[in-house]
This record gives sequence, structure tokens and C-alpha cells, in this order.
Amino acid sequence: MMDSKSPVLVSGGSGYLASHIIKQLLDNGYTVHTTVRDKRKTDKYDHLLRLAEKSSGERKVFEADLLKRESFGEAMKTCSHVFHTASPFIIEKIRNPKEVLVEPALEGTRNILETVNKTKTVERVVLTSSIAAIMGDAIDAKNIPGGIFTEEVWNTTSNLDHQPYPYSKTLAEKEAWQIVSEQSRWTLVVMNPGFILGPSLTKRADSASINFMISMGNGTYKTGLPEGYLAIVDVRDVARAHILGAFNEKSSGRHILTNECLTFGDAAGILKKEFPVYPLPVRKVPKWFFIIMGPMFGLTRQYIRKNIGYPLNFDNTYSIRDLGIDYRPVEQTLTDHFQQLLDDGLLAAK
Ligand code: NAP
Repeated sequence: MMDSKSPVLVSGGSGYLASHIIKQLLDNGYTVHTTVRDKRKTDKYDHLLRLAEKSSGERKVFEADLLKRESFGEAMKTCSHVFHTASPFIIEKIRNPKEVLVEPALEGTRNILETVNKTKTVERVVLTSSIAAIMGDAIDAKNIPGGIFTEEVWNTTSNLDHQPYPYSKTLAEKEAWQIVSEQSRWTLVVMNPGFILGPSLTKRADSASINFMISMGNGTYKTGLPEGYLAIVDVRDVARAHILGAFNEKSSGRHILTNECLTFGDAAGILKKEFPVYPLPVRKVPKWFFIIMGPMFGLTRQYIRKNIGYPLNFDNTYSIRDLGIDYRPVEQTLTDHFQQLLDDGLLAAK
């Protein structure tokens, strides 16, 4: 680790991933500035206070909104590193994707990086992008060499009408690379996580990751799920990767952060062994059936056609080489996450 004298900024501290990044920074003695949209809503971030009390670091909370220009200035003052994680992660039932997803992702990245340009103490920005900026739909694998997604690949198939969340992440990451290329004072390192799972430090369920795990356990999909694939990665490993990418001066570029790609059925099967009484979707339903039923779960038919039944392959070797990261077993990720939902009452215990 570098010296922990200068504060660092984590945007969107109330979030699922950001809370883990903050925890690990505090545990390493850093002073962490973080932003929330509304400081009055203390229930969204009071867990950060508890984390700070248990660690050697200090945390300070500021108010900022991705859509308000210059609102991150105060929080960024004197910071050496910026972790930009705040961005809406919603994949279902999106009515106005431009307003809900694209504007906060793109304008937010632009606003934060304009502030970085003005804040002379900042040396490095770590941007949370996604594999969604690499791959729009699983079917895209047919058009890449060997069907394996690498950091060289960009998502070219998403737009406002189809896959708006991947579109928002692609636009935001491209904008970040453009802005960093226009100067030479600070550097950019990008993390492209797969589907993040693992225990949350908060009881919030806004992130699609947490919603998904709750739906697995509460019977939403009790009739079964089709053969869809998930490129899973543990939230604790993603947080660690952000910190390694920030403080290892030699780190550079994009980083695919994925561990194993499992089908929904494989994931449910792992959970069923540990939690046999829960209505987990261990049965596979045919794709045609899900094409009919999918809209009831907020998924479009086009999404189902282009994603169900196509295996996913991501090459994570660059993250292991560049960051020195070790991925924890996916069984541990899934069972720890399910247990946390039970412990926190987000899933009713049986
Ligand atoms: P999350 O828990 O929903 O966190 C999203 C954060 O963004 C929240 O803190 C939210 O603040 C903030 N935010 C949203 N709109 C904002 C706005 N207009 N102004 C300021 N803050 C705003 O989601 P997450 O899963 O931790 O995701 C964090 C990041 O990881 C995102 O960039 C996401 O795209 C990326 N990512 C997630 C996954 C995954 O599987 N979870 C995978 C790959 C990449 P409020 O508390 O005010 O709502």
C-alpha cells in the first residue's frame, strides 16, 4: 500500500460495491471521503459510520449528485485517488432509460472527471465499469475470436431501446478514456466486473445483484429458470481489485473481473445444498417458455432471445497478472450472500 496520508474519494458510498471498497480502505488506515445524494437519508449510509468505528481509518460524508456539475468538488479536495463507482445499476422495468441510466452514467463520469482535472492533488482515478461495456448480449460471443471476451472487445450492440444499462456503461467508460487522453497529470484504471454477488454490508436491496439473490431465495422463480449464464465475481474481490488498481502505480488499462461462469441452475444447485428448504429454481425451463413468461419478470423477449442458452467465456488472466488478485470460490460467494440475506431479514428464515 502507498502512504495513507492523503484522503481518497469513493463516489456513491451508500452502494453495495462502494461500501466494500470503503471498508477495505478504512481497514487499511485511509481517510475516506465519500458522497451520497442526500445526507438527510442517514439510513442509507449509517453502516459506514459503524465501519469507521471498527477500523483505523476515518470517513467523511459529503453530498453530491452525478447530474449536478461541480457537486463533487468539496469531497474531492486534497484527495490523491478517486474511486468512481456511483452509477445506477438497474436492469429490469426501465421506463425512461435515457434519464434513469444514460444521463447519470455519462454526465456523472464527465462531471467527476472535469472535477478531477481541476483538483491538482488527484493522481489516479479508478472507474467502475462493467463487463457490460465489453459485451451487450451473450450472443455477441459468436462474433469474437474463439468466443472469449477479452479487454480488447467493446460492446457495440447495445442502445437506448435494447440493453440500456450496458449502453450506459459503454458510453461512460468511453468518455472516461477520452477525457484521460486529453491530459497527462492523472491516470485512469478501469475495472470491468462481471455479475457481483457476495454478502452486502447494508440492508439495502437497490442493486440488481441483491435483488437477484433475493428473487432466487423467495420463490419468484420457483417454477425454474432457463439456461442463462452468469459471469460471477465476489463483491469482496471486486473491492480488493479496485484498491490494488489504485495503489499499484504500474497497473493500467481495463480489467475483466470474473470468476466462474455458471448457469442459473448451477448457482441454485450450490445454494440448495446449503439451504435445502428454500424454493430455489433448480429446475430448467425451456427457452420458449421463458420467452412467453419473461416480460412478467421485467425482461424483454429480445433480451431473452439473445442471452438465454449462450455460454459466456471471459478471460480474467489480465486481472490476475496486473493486480495479483486471487478469486475466492464461487460456492463461498453464493452461500455467504444467501446467509447475509437471512441474517439481515431480507429473506424470511424457514
Ligand atoms: P448500487 O448498490 O445500486 O449502488 C449505486 C450507487 O450509485 C448508489 O450509491 C447510488 O446512490 C449511486 N447513484 C445512482 N444514481 C446517482 C446519482 N444521480 N447521483 C449520485 N449517486 C448516484 O449498485 P452496485 O451494484 O454497488 O453498483 C456500483 C457500480 O458497480 C456501478 O457503477 C455499477 O454499474 C457497477 N457494476 C455493478 C455490478 C453488479 O453486479 N452489481 C457489475 C458490474 C459493474 P443512492 O444511494 O443515492 O441511490
